[in-house]
Order: sequence, then C-alpha cells, then structure tokens
Amino acid sequence: SISVVLFTSDLRLHDHPPLRAALDGTEWTVPLFVRDRAVDAAGFAVPNRLAFLADCLRDLDTGLRERGGRLVLREGDLVDQVGKVAAEADADEVHMASDVSAHARRREEGLRRALEAEGVRLHVHDTVTTAVAPGAVTPAGSDHFAVFTPYFRRWSKERLRDPLRAPRTVRVPEGVGSDPLPVRGEVRGLSEGLAEGGEEAGRTRLTAWLRHRVSAYEDRHDDLAGDATSRLSPHLHFGTLSPVELVHRARRAGGPGADAFVRQLAWRDFHRQVLASRPDAATADYRARHDHWRSEREAGEDIAAWKEGRTGYPVVDAAMRQLRHEGWMHNRGRLLTASFLAKTLYVDWRVGARHFLDLLVDGDIANNQLNWQWVAGTGTDTRPNRVLNPVAQARRYDPDGGYVRRWVPELAEVAGRAVHEPWRLPDDERAGLDYPDRIVDLAEGLTRFKRARGR
Ligand code: FAD
Repeated sequence: SISVVLFTSDLRLHDHPPLRAALDGTEWTVPLFVRDRAVDAAGFAVPNRLAFLADCLRDLDTGLRERGGRLVLREGDLVDQVGKVAAEADADEVHMASDVSAHARRREEGLRRALEAEGVRLHVHDTVTTAVAPGAVTPAGSDHFAVFTPYFRRWSKERLRDPLRAPRTVRVPEGVGSDPLPVRGEVRGLSEGLAEGGEEAGRTRLTAWLRHRVSAYEDRHDDLAGDATSRLSPHLHFGTLSPVELVHRARRAGGPGADAFVRQLAWRDFHRQVLASRPDAATADYRARHDHWRSEREAGEDIAAWKEGRTGYPVVDAAMRQLRHEGWMHNRGRLLTASFLAKTLYVDWRVGARHFLDLLVDGDIANNQLNWQWVAGTGTDTRPNRVLNPVAQARRYDPDGGYVRRWVPELAEVAGRAVHEPWRLPDDERAGLDYPDRIVDLAEGLTRFKRARGR
C-alpha cells in the first residue's frame, strides 16, 4: 500500500506525526510539497519567505535522500496536484497537518471531498504546528479563550504527547516526477540580512539557544540592542521545528529563562486558537471599537515615512529599518512601531499588518494579524487604549542607544541618551544631522486617539 504525506507548514523530519503515520501504515510513501498558486494569488508569496522556503525545501529533500527517499514538488492548485500525485502513485491515503486559517481550512475540506471521490482517505493530524491543538482547552461557555492568562494556566496543565524521532528510512515509489526545487539565489528582492532556512539550521539554532542563551531570556528579552531572543520564529512559521519538541526541550532545560520562553510559545498557540474560532479576525476587528481610521489617502505621507523608517522618532525608525534589512524585527520593536502607526498616527492596523507581511520572514496570519489587533486595541488586549510612548520605550528598552545607533547611522555620533530625542540637541548640532524632523507631535497624536476612542 502507498501513502502521500503532504507537507505544508511543517517542513521537517523530526517529530512529524503525519509522516510517522504514513510510514507506519504503508510500505511506500510519497513526501509531497505543493507550491499553492492560491498563496501567490493572495499576495502572500513575498521574496523573504520564498527564499527561506527554498532553503527549507532543499534541506527537507536532503534529509529525505539521506534516508533513501526524496521530496516531490509540484506547483499549481493544491487540491488538483495532491489528487494527481495520489493517482500517479496509486495511493490509498494522504496524511497532512491541520491548520487554522480560513484558507487552510477551505483547502482541507476541498481536498477531503476530491480525494474521497477517488476512494482515497485523508488523515489530518493535530499538534504538528501547535503544541496544544486549537480547541483542546476551552473556557466555560465559549469555543476559545479571549484572554491569555487563563488560557496559559490551562495550556500549562495539558499533557503533551512525546516527540517523535526522525524516521530512519523513507521508501518513495519510482515514477512520481517532481518539478525542480526552488533556489534561494534565484529569488529577487530579498532582505540582505535574511536568516538561513531549513530544519538543520533550525535545530542548530535551537540547541545553541537552549544551551547558552535561554537562561538570560527572562531578564533580557526586551533589550533591543542585546538581541537576546531566540529568533526561532521563522522556523516555527515554516515548521522546521516542532512546537511540541520545543516545549519539551525548554522544560527540560528548566529555570526562569526557559519558563519565560515557554510562555511565549504559548502565545503562539493562543493566537491560533483565536483564529481557529474566529477566522474572520484575519481581516475584521476581533472587537469593534468603532474606529474611523485615517485613510491611506489622508495619511499617505505618514504611512510612507513609517514604512521607510524616517518618522523622526529614532527607535521607531531603527525598528522599521531592521525589518527591511533582516526581514525580521525584535518583538519590542514590533510592539512600539505598531502602536505608533495605529495609535499615534491613527492609521488602520490592516495597513501596518500588510506591510509587516510583505517583509517578515516569520510573517504569519495568526501571529501577525492578532498581534496587530492586540496592539491596536481591537483584539485581545485587556487594556485596549494604552498607547506606547516611543521616547519612554526607547529609554527603557534601548537605554544606551545601541539599537538606534546600529540601525540609524545618521545618529551614530550622537552621544548618550540624546540619541533618542535629537530634536532636543543644540540647534547647530541638530542642523548637522541628516535626520528628519518628527512627523507628528506625540501629545497631538494622543489627543486624537483619545477623542477617537471616546475617552
Ligand atoms: P522569542 O522571544 O524567542 O519567542 C519564542 C517564540 O515564541 C517565537 O519564535 C514565537 O513563535 C513565539 N512568540 C513570541 N512572542 C509571541 C507573540 N506575541 N505572539 C505569538 N507568538 C509569539 N510572530 C510571528 O511569528 N509572526 C508574525 O507575523 C508576527 N507578527 C507580529 C506583529 C506584531 C505587531 C507584534 C507585536 C508581534 C508579532 N509577532 C509575530 C510576535 C513576536 O514579535 C515574534 O514572534 C517574535 O518577535 C519572534 O522573535 P523570536 O523568535 O526571537 O521570539
């Protein structure tokens, strides 16, 4: 008997329940990845993620070849392509991971119908892309948690399944052809400092992280210049690392740093269980606050300055430039730049979320849209009207100004904390800097926001 394993956001061999089920149940297995045209059509296939994906697919293929197999790549409509491959291989069953976005769920239903019509069974596996499955824990009277802290309490008590080892051998039938694998070097327009993808790179980073750095995470995770977070987010997005395995290994490492890290991993599951219940929250306000955001036409120049990192607020500009240069931004930077756009400039969070998705290598519908909503106060934050002051944030999380000097070289020579408020410098010194004036006065921004929210 023959099975197909459809890889989606789970591009790894370690701890992969669909692959394990296929190998245990059938003699032959076709490992398949489909470059889904619908993802391109939705504008989701941007250079940074395509380049990282190319690394992931190559690495997956290499790992499969070391085990006697190979990866089959196809391009087109996912449902058509899986059906075709199943027919070519004469497969009886298809295994894949469950996912939460509206697109993923429509796709899964379409696939189930099409395969069943051909007598092929579809098996969908949980806890491949999350540690705890969406819906596994729920509060009384609702299908999902809307507040993180009680969710986390329940999440922490869930017994996780044991991680699975990578298979030793994978036997792939001959005669199922593959399109050529993509190459990172052929992707145009990617960020210069983009990280390397693939399971091997992810596992190396994880091991080093748990061995040397996680212990300092609790104290240092908000230190912008310290860069003391794991940077595992792209690996979690593409599934080159398993969330179940990560939680197990972090718990084994133990200590306050590892505990704080596990708590962040729970945020990822939290947003997924929200999106699973409210797929509309990818685009619509989770909680309507009756905002009349400034339109893209009205705020066009402000939006452009924000995107390009020339708002005149150094820490905002530093973070926006990090995003462009690396395809990644520090979480503290994401919080303060998002607050600046949505609350200080009073621009629709969807405009900012789109820009992040255009560049982030970890750009993810659940995490990005729901974190944006959290910051904009239309999501699950229990203090929806708090506004982050970029100067206070900079003093607190970049006390020596190292982050700003790194990303805003125009200010590299400004000494001390003055780097966060160049407008306070003596006129002659200020005039010598090739750095823009502030595009908005913070007090005016705050007044506009308070008025808009009726406070
Ligand atoms: P670490 O601090 O090392 O955390 C470990 C892991 O925990 C992360 O890799 C991530 O998977 C998870 N995690 C941490 N914080 C969060 C959080 N707030 N929500 C959900 N998961 C979290 N994360 C994405 O993966 N993709 C996105 O598109 C994304 N967009 C964001 C947009 C905004 C406006 C904000 C405020 C946050 C966003 N985040 C997003 C969450 C968070 O900023 C990143 O996950 C984190 O910065 C990644 O860096 P790291 O791997 O070093 O994180």
